[in-house]
Order: sequence, then structure tokens, then C-alpha cells
Amino acid sequence: MSRFWSSVVHTLSPYVPGEQPKIDGLVKLNTNENPYDPSPRALTAIAAAAERLRLYPDPAATSLRETIAARFDVAANEVFVGNGSDEVLAHTFQALLRHDAPLLFPDITYSFYPVYCRLYGVNHEVVPLDGAMRIDLADYRRPGSAVLLCNPNAPTGIALPRAAIEALLTEHPDRLVVVDEAYVDFGAESAVPLVARHDNLLVIQTLSKSRALAGLRVGFAIGQRPLIEALERVKDSFNSYPLDCFAIAGAVAAIEDDAWFQETRQRIIQSRETLTGSLTELGFEVLPSQANFVFARHRSHRGADLAARLRERGVLVRHFQKPRIEDFLRITIGTDEECGRLIGLLRQMV
Ligand code: PMP
Repeated sequence: MSRFWSSVVHTLSPYVPGEQPKIDGLVKLNTNENPYDPSPRALTAIAAAAERLRLYPDPAATSLRETIAARFDVAANEVFVGNGSDEVLAHTFQALLRHDAPLLFPDITYSFYPVYCRLYGVNHEVVPLDGAMRIDLADYRRPGSAVLLCNPNAPTGIALPRAAIEALLTEHPDRLVVVDEAYVDFGAESAVPLVARHDNLLVIQTLSKSRALAGLRVGFAIGQRPLIEALERVKDSFNSYPLDCFAIAGAVAAIEDDAWFQETRQRIIQSRETLTGSLTELGFEVLPSQANFVFARHRSHRGADLAARLRERGVLVRHFQKPRIEDFLRITIGTDEECGRLIGLLRQMV
């Protein structure tokens, strides 16, 4: 604390990311990174971008927005890009979610949402997941200005079908619905095809997970023009160049390399099913995941204990000391070898 702090700083409770220790041989299954290297085409494009370092990057990242637009069959001016989807989310909170009536989101979801609410003074209300840890959209029939859903949800991994999102959009045409699809490529249905028909939908995705580019920091939003314009107004009042020349070049190449994308995501989906089977055999309840992680609890062991014992043996998983989920472990899908190491250790512990 210091007498130089602005008053808002005292009120913040910052997000705590999963740890990134520099320990050799550690099996890192705690931050939902992709276990495979990114597309080689992305690496080549990033290396070539060094030639342009003397110059500022394109402030509008036009080539990337055009590439995303072509892939999702929307117009380039319906795409907004940012420095990771966290930044896109941050601008969304400030530009579109700050109203008198509360923003609604689940009690168990991405823990950055309440942090942004504090930072930007967004009035919000949490809506409990049901007893099976699912989002029940009937519970959102209460006063609110907007709904923020993570789909598949984190940390549960459970996905809502596109039809359920569409029903919500239709039922509340005057409420903005923001869908955070950070994990959508591992088996869920994207809401992007609904954008053309619904002016109250904003979909946010990232290249950090399914394209293995967490270190490059690229995320994007797709929505109708007035929503994107709001994000652009905030961005251009904050930082003209959120994406550097490496990020723009690497992201374009990664999105164009569909063969790499399809192969690695199928591999991760396959490994998820194998890991789910092994955990179930060991006495874990595993929630049905459409993401690159599973959320599981053991019938007779505490989550905190298991996480600590795994850590001592060189395997990191994520544990949240939070009501309702303190006995769960969130386990990122690694390579089959990494998942095998985890299962081998758990077999000795449970
Ligand atoms: N949304 C969700 C649900 C996440 O889990 C994450 C990753 N922590 C993000 C958004 C942000 O990802 P990034 O900023 O790397 O795009």
C-alpha cells in the first residue's frame, strides 16, 4: 500500500493466473495450454515478421481480421482483435456491460469475470449452476442487462448446445449475450453462425488454446457492426497497437493452417476421452467435458491433498479453494505420455 495509489487500486482483487514454474521435467497440466507445438507455418511467419520491427504494426490488424472473417464467413468489420481474449473481454466489460441492471453470469465460471467487474465498476449478479454443475438458462429469467456465458464453461468443461444459446438470444432480444468460446474447438458448437441473425450476440475466441499460441497473445470477437464499433472506440482510446507484428503474422498463418488445427484438436479430444476413462476407473467423478481439460473429484480424497501430492511428484494440476468446487481438480489434457504419468501417480495415491 502506498499514499500514491489511486482510490480504485485499493478496491481491486486481481486475478491469479495458474503458476508457470521453470522446473525441468515438470508435467504442466494446470493452465489449459496446448501440449503440442504451434503450426510450423505460424513459426515461419513469426520469424519473417522480424524484418518489419522498425515499423509500427497495422493498428487495425486488417490482414488478421480479414483472415478470421473468411474462416467464419462474416465481414472483416464484424471482427475485433485484441492482445489475448482477456483484453477483448476487458474492453467488452467497459464498452458493453456497464449498465444499471446487473450483468448475469454463473457462480462457477472463469474467475476473471468478477475481477473485470471490480476494475470497471460493473454491477453484476451470479447465477448458481444447477446440482449437476450445469448452466440452466431458465435460471436467467431474472432482471439483468446482459448475460455472460463461457461455453464450454470453465472450469467444468460442460457445453451448451447452439440451440440453447439461440433460445436465450430470442427470449431476451434487448439483452446483450456475450459467449466466451475460449475452449469451443475441442468439441462444442460455436455460436458464431448466430451472429448474422442476432444483433445482441458477441462471441469471443482465442488462439491460446486450440492453436497453441498462448505466448503470442491473440484473441478476437465476432458480432454485428455496432458491437464491434464499441470495442474499437475503447481500444482506440487505450492502445492503438495491441497486436504486434509477430502476433498479426503468426495468427494469420495459424488460422490458415487448417490441417494442423484439425489434427491436433482431434488428438486432444481423443486423449481427453482416454483420460476420462482412466480417471473414472480410479474412482473419480469426471464432468462431461467438451474442452481441453477435465474437471474431476475423487469419491474419497480431498482435492487440495491430491493437488499437493501430485505437485510434490512433478505434476501440476489446478485446484480452486472455492465453495462447491474445492474437491475438484481441473486437469489440462496433455500428451498421452503426460496423461499416463498423471494416471500412474494417481494409481499410487487413491
Ligand atoms: N476465457 C477463458 C474461459 C479462459 O480460460 C482464458 C484463459 N485463461 C481466457 C478467456 C483468456 O485467454 P487468452 O487471454 O490467452 O486469450
